[in-house]
Amino acid sequence: MARGIDADVAVVGAGPAGAAAALFAAARGHRVIIFDKQAFPRDKPCGEGLMPGGRPALRELGLEENVVSGGAPPLRGIQFGRVEEPHVAVPFPAHDGEHAGLGIRRLTFDAQLADALGQHSGIQFSPQTEARDIRRDSDGMTTVLTAAGEVRARFVAVADGLRSALRHRLGWTVGPRPPHRYGIVAHWLMAGPVDPWVRITFDRGLEVYEGPVAGDQRMVALLCYQDRMREFGGRLEARYREIAQAIRPGLRQADMVGPVSAVGPFWYGTRTVADRGIFLVGDAAGFTDPITAEGVATGLRQARAFADALASPNPEPAYRHPHRRLTKDPHRVAALFLRLSRTPALVDRAIHNHARSPQTLTKLLGIGFGYWGFNRITPREWIRMFSGR
Ligand SMILES: Cc1cc2nc3c(=O)[nH]c(=O)nc-3n(C[C@H](O)[C@H](O)[C@H](O)COP(=O)(O)OP(=O)(O)OC[C@H]3O[C@@H](n4cnc5c(N)ncnc54)[C@H](O)[C@@H]3O)c2cc1C
Repeated sequence: MARGIDADVAVVGAGPAGAAAALFAAARGHRVIIFDKQAFPRDKPCGEGLMPGGRPALRELGLEENVVSGGAPPLRGIQFGRVEEPHVAVPFPAHDGEHAGLGIRRLTFDAQLADALGQHSGIQFSPQTEARDIRRDSDGMTTVLTAAGEVRARFVAVADGLRSALRHRLGWTVGPRPPHRYGIVAHWLMAGPVDPWVRITFDRGLEVYEGPVAGDQRMVALLCYQDRMREFGGRLEARYREIAQAIRPGLRQADMVGPVSAVGPFWYGTRTVADRGIFLVGDAAGFTDPITAEGVATGLRQARAFADALASPNPEPAYRHPHRRLTKDPHRVAALFLRLSRTPALVDRAIHNHARSPQTLTKLLGIGFGYWGFNRITPREWIRMFSGR
């Protein structure tokens, strides 16, 4: 006798990518079961900038208004520079009426997504339920083995984050690839007018990345390579505080709120993002580096592409193609910014060039947001950016 199925779609992980995959699939009429091993609200170390390219997906899910009215401040663009030197401002490009990102406190944002899952009649949401393995059945269905029992589904979206244990069980993981990079994140109380810029300050082998979130808080992340990570051994909070306050003197008068968290290494790839009913979404589908702050926006857009692909007679290639389109150029832009972070002379050159050609970096951000391709930047602008001439 043929065995029945428990859901059309099972989703593992209720972070932004998994929650959005469940919501988009349910909006297209699928019966969905989603698990997360943690209880909500839960925090996640993140730079907490939702780039403008992610807002349409949030709006389509009917969640944007909720996020904005919950206090997420608008982000206008990026300021960058070296320690104790003036920073230059690169506004986000305007595109389809979109020109601002949002500072999303993950504790709140992910809880809002979890609430939306709980309220949808087509979604069964099980927090505190760990998925332990995944198995393909002989009839073409897939079974997820969870702490609470087995669940059979036609399609499974694996959205269990950067280190994806299920991707590993499938044998699809590539990496982590050196040189390893890490992030150390905490929040600071900063009373006064909200500064709507994401600020990146480059130091030797380390960047300080900061941006506003709701409740007069500023997220301050240190991003660094393995050699500088050693400085934090056994004294994560104290060393984080020393570096953050040395590089951003404004923090000397501010109080730190909540814990200091470390995460990494970052670079993970995957052999495939879709095969025989199993789809990887969000960080589980590969993650380069947070330097361009694209992870959440990209995860939301991948989630929509996943749900759209389910209507195709061949859903796997119907997901692989848009996935590649959504990630290829953002990964290349991240690689360019990483070169900048490793080479102080390039930072100086980019700042110098920005004064003469202020639109080039805005165009580059637009490539990372998926608005347009690399051909938007003229050969002359490329030469200027890298040679300074
Ligand atoms: C330092 C740092 C700074 C960053 N800055 C930014 C930024 O400014 N802007 C931006 O957009 N992105 C940023 N990112 C990236 C962003 O955090 C990620 O891209 C984003 O969280 C990915 O969402 P996700 O849903 O794929 O995974 P996650 O948010 O990691 O969610 C995965 C979920 O899966 C659950 N899970 C894991 N294993 C299991 C299991 N076996 N069973 C059930 N559930 C499971 C986890 O509990 C978790 O809830 C940053 C990342 C880092 C590390």
